Amino acid sequence: MLVLVANLGSTSFKYRLFRMDGNGGEVIAKGGYERVTDYAAVIDDALTALQRDGVIASPDEIEAVGFKTVLGKDLSGCVMADQQVIAALEGFTAVAPAHNPPYAAGIAQFEKSLPNARLVALFETAFYQWTSPASYSYAIPSVWRDIGIRRYGFHGASHKFIAERSAELCGREDVAEIVRRLYLDGPQPVEGKPFRVISCHLGGSSSVTGIRNGVAIGSSMGFSPQSGLPQNNRVGDLDSGAIPYAMRTLGISLDEAERQLTKESGLLGLSGVSNDIRDVNAAALEGNPDAQLAIDSLVHSIRHWTGAFQFELGGLDALVFTAGIGENGAATRAAVCKDLEAFGIHLDPAKNEACRATESVISTDDSSVKIIVIPANEELVLAREVYRKLS
Ligand code: ADP
Repeated sequence: MLVLVANLGSTSFKYRLFRMDGNGGEVIAKGGYERVTDYAAVIDDALTALQRDGVIASPDEIEAVGFKTVLGKDLSGCVMADQQVIAALEGFTAVAPAHNPPYAAGIAQFEKSLPNARLVALFETAFYQWTSPASYSYAIPSVWRDIGIRRYGFHGASHKFIAERSAELCGREDVAEIVRRLYLDGPQPVEGKPFRVISCHLGGSSSVTGIRNGVAIGSSMGFSPQSGLPQNNRVGDLDSGAIPYAMRTLGISLDEAERQLTKESGLLGLSGVSNDIRDVNAAALEGNPDAQLAIDSLVHSIRHWTGAFQFELGGLDALVFTAGIGENGAATRAAVCKDLEAFGIHLDPAKNEACRATESVISTDDSSVKIIVIPANEELVLAREVYRKLS
């Protein structure tokens, strides 16, 4: 099955064409466009290029297109991308202004450009469909809840992949199979010991997710991808009382407060140096105290959420690091795992240092919690989910 994964940004369109066969898949073509103003033109140009380059004889060979949609109003899951999905995306444009409009436009355009292909939307919130009302509810008036304000959780595709891969690596094929079929069958009972994982997706944006028997129990991210850990430019958790106070005291508008909290906060805001942790690390090594504070805050927040989930899970079998910082940041991983031996978390310093973006177990042999680095491959994960849904 040929599956096109369409990655739509506010001014970009990138694609990868996968040939899928079971769980495996290979990229047979990829491309992208920047400074996009007209999605119709670039999508049609990409399809023409695939034919011209001999990758496909006709666009009809592309059986499916997958979209990693972020957040829909009253809709989640891995679903056929139809008018209902477009309406759900448009309903939450105000929450995800950079992501929802391009996906709504892109889906509408693919319906025209590839009328015979099946279009599938995988919401980033999908993995959190089975979290409990107690964990997803904010203590707000019902009129706020009625307009959809609750915790959703994001990076679902990445964390679900971690749920599956960590189960495989820990010899829990029973749980891995539950994860593979999760969007088809829903959560399933597990016989014997539960399998408990905490997944740390640490990248340009970051989140921590607790997973029991292949199903997410919660995320550090809440209503929007703005909450939880400090992100590259985004604030992470912030007391709701801080926004009216800052607006009144600094004399700034709501739009300006929002801009500062999304563009000038996080690692950039704390360090004053950069939104890239490599630059922040370098500055910290030269003695910049603000850069050190940014790193310490990120680590503090990861440990805060990891501790919360380990407690809620009633123990832990695997602690997983993924995405840019999680895969490459040996120092960050070491700081997160420091002094946690009482909780069964024993990092092997040599294995941790040696691991750079390769799948590896970095705990000591006698650690009761396996600490694992698993590289993210979000496009392949999406192509797999599309394949599973359609076959
Ligand atoms: P995104 O969330 O934008 O998809 P990535 O998962 O690619 O991002 O992660 C980007 C982050 O990974 C950046 O903050 C970057 O500094 C960090 N990163 C990349 N390479 C390294 C490295 N060698 N050491 C530490 N951090 C790294």
